[in-house]
Amino acid sequence: MDWDEFAEWSKQIADWAADYHKTLADRPVRAQTAPGEIAEQLPVAPPEDAEAMETVLADFETIVMPGMTHWQHPRFFAYFPANAAPPSMLAEMLVTTIAAQCMLWQTSPAATEMEGVMVDWLRQALDLPETYTGVIQDSASSATLSAVLTMRERATGFTGNRHGLSGKGNLRIYCSDQVHSSIDRACWVAGIGQENLVKLPATGPRFALDANALDQAIARDLEDGQIPAGIIAITGGTGVGASDQLEPVLAVARKHDLYTHLDAAWAGAAMICPELRADFWHGVEGFDSIVFNPHKWLGAQFDCSVQFLSDPLPQLNTLKIEPEYLKTTGEAVTNYSEWTIPLGRRFRALKIWFLIRSYGLEGLRARIRNHIVWSGEICEQIRAFEGFEIVTEPILSLFSFRCPGDDATQQRLVDALNDDGRIYLTQGAFQGRKVIRFQVGQFDTTREDVMMAAGVIKDVWRRIA
Ligand code: PLP
Repeated sequence: MDWDEFAEWSKQIADWAADYHKTLADRPVRAQTAPGEIAEQLPVAPPEDAEAMETVLADFETIVMPGMTHWQHPRFFAYFPANAAPPSMLAEMLVTTIAAQCMLWQTSPAATEMEGVMVDWLRQALDLPETYTGVIQDSASSATLSAVLTMRERATGFTGNRHGLSGKGNLRIYCSDQVHSSIDRACWVAGIGQENLVKLPATGPRFALDANALDQAIARDLEDGQIPAGIIAITGGTGVGASDQLEPVLAVARKHDLYTHLDAAWAGAAMICPELRADFWHGVEGFDSIVFNPHKWLGAQFDCSVQFLSDPLPQLNTLKIEPEYLKTTGEAVTNYSEWTIPLGRRFRALKIWFLIRSYGLEGLRARIRNHIVWSGEICEQIRAFEGFEIVTEPILSLFSFRCPGDDATQQRLVDALNDDGRIYLTQGAFQGRKVIRFQVGQFDTTREDVMMAAGVIKDVWRRIA
């Protein structure tokens, strides 16, 4: 393909993209295909001869598109959103075009310097103190793994990487039972093990870590010769939005000199709204590490996860490795690949720049505020359905409910709703029971889209009850 042809195809694809988004609301939200249906339409072997782009794109439309679940659909109420505001998509197109690998300052100075400034813009937007710096990672899972490895290294005097973990005793990490599975996985991968991730029962209206229970668990472990290494708190857990009270958790961490990480992957975006901070963010400035995903609720196209660090040195001491070929000469510069696990890195900061400049923080706040109000409204509508129960009240824009019947019935309703296609919801578990989660957060959703869900749920329930 030459560059003139490339320009032609790019224009066609840009038109296709705009049409796709303009007509998205007419498509079923969740893919309606059966497992294997897409794969069986693909040739089993690669072509020996070149094929025309017309043919490739025609196949994309007929084979691929029916197998896509539409995350940008305005009636996507499942999981958490993975928003892609149009300006952030444009930035991604530019990034894809330049296709730079931004592992070191010298491999793309603009990417590195933009990253530093964007992390600082977001720091200000989230009202974190000036002392925080940070790095953009691919996912919250990677940021959490970095933090857990740092906890491990700090607790072993930064010797685990060099000598392994044998003879180091049982390192322990503490959190509530509402944490995302990425915390479990970080502990597995870090060699800490599931048994040493101490999950305490969440309590109170926001399902928070009980600071007294936390303190007692750590004290007991110390008496037993275990080695407490860190505490992980959450603002906006995946299941039902559980949010810890940060100050009391930090007081326990300070008492025992433990490294702290806050998972605000979803709810961090809402902290751009000053009125929400007293309830969800109070004390946040005490955390060593904080992760939040602009690719979730804020609108930056996936993937984009920001990890703020009050002091980057412990993480650098944990992860930095500098073989000869990565050494750079000259003035001291930031090489962000030393802050993270992967070496190679994409230019992720550009989409944040495009996003924030295009909407302003006020434009982004307006969306989040609407989502929270609409989530409250739809929750009231579902509460009024005969026999339905609101299991967890809205926390920000997430609540959970049950229809009449056992766990199998909940799943039957979820599956029937998603087969229907007008909305997309997913199930979760809370206190041993299956619940149906409802979150409002899609970038372009309207009040009408959200309210329509009530009619759809009623309609589908009547069909299956
Ligand atoms: N933490 C929370 C609270 C989440 O909801 C999720 C994913 O939904 C994650 C962490 C993991 O995020 P990522 O997919 O960026 O690893």
